[in-house]
Amino acid sequence: MRIGNGYDVHRLAKGYRLVLGGVEIPHEKGCVAHSDGDVVLHALCDALLGALSLGDIGQHFPDTSDEYLGIDSKILLERTYSMVKEEGYSLVNADITLLLQKPKIAPYIAQMKDSIASVLGVPANSISVKATTTERLGYIGREEGVSCYATILLSKS
Ligand code: MG
Repeated sequence: MRIGNGYDVHRLAKGYRLVLGGVEIPHEKGCVAHSDGDVVLHALCDALLGALSLGDIGQHFPDTSDEYLGIDSKILLERTYSMVKEEGYSLVNADITLLLQKPKIAPYIAQMKDSIASVLGVPANSISVKATTTERLGYIGREEGVSCYATILLSKS
């Protein structure tokens, strides 16, 4: 067994898409990023890489490369999970906590779980997605940014 954790933050601004856990959410602000800015999938990629000591997302998919400009982060997750499988491991479960003030995420949780599970080829009940506000405190509370924590467990397959 190997355990991994990942963390990511993106700035929120008008005129960008809000894509979280592979699901596009209608909102007045979105994540400023080189890719589609999906903090959920970025945190998850870092957790998967971290579990096997394979570095981090910035190392594998540099934000200075045009190849990743506007890229769908589901592709990054798919490539990351291929590395995990090449090492002979598979995902047992993932537990994800998303921090943002707005919009309400509850209506999109099931879709996010399905989206992540289908990229990884695991049952949806292996993926947990939770969301919380920060009670209007800090940069998340001021709706300046969104952040995400991911914890995962791998087992040798
Ligand atoms: Mg990121």
